Amino acid sequence: MNEMTCVVCGKKAKKAKLRFQGYSVDGWKCPCGEEYFEPGQAQRILVLNKLRQQETTAKLGKVRSNLILRIPTDIADALGLKEGERVKLRVHDKNLCVSGA
Ligand SMILES: [Zn+2]
Repeated sequence: MNEMTCVVCGKKAKKAKLRFQGYSVDGWKCPCGEEYFEPGQAQRILVLNKLRQQETTAKLGKVRSNLILRIPTDIADALGLKEGERVKLRVHDKNLCVSGA
């Protein structure tokens, strides 16, 4: 939808790129200054910001001789990771760091 009615002033809010917690998200901006964020994108950013503030552990599984890293669902969803996608691995001191490719 390209327009929505502003609940503050009743005018038409138009589709726009907005800033939300440091990220660019789709939404609607009203001439009165009120902004409306696309709910799914805003929710994803909230989850990402929460995940960035904490370290997470993941369990290693095994398939034949290979170790399999299981990425928690909330992280996979927040980053949009899908099966078959490549991520980067880096050994830092004796730690393994994983990043989205
Ligand atoms: Zn308005």
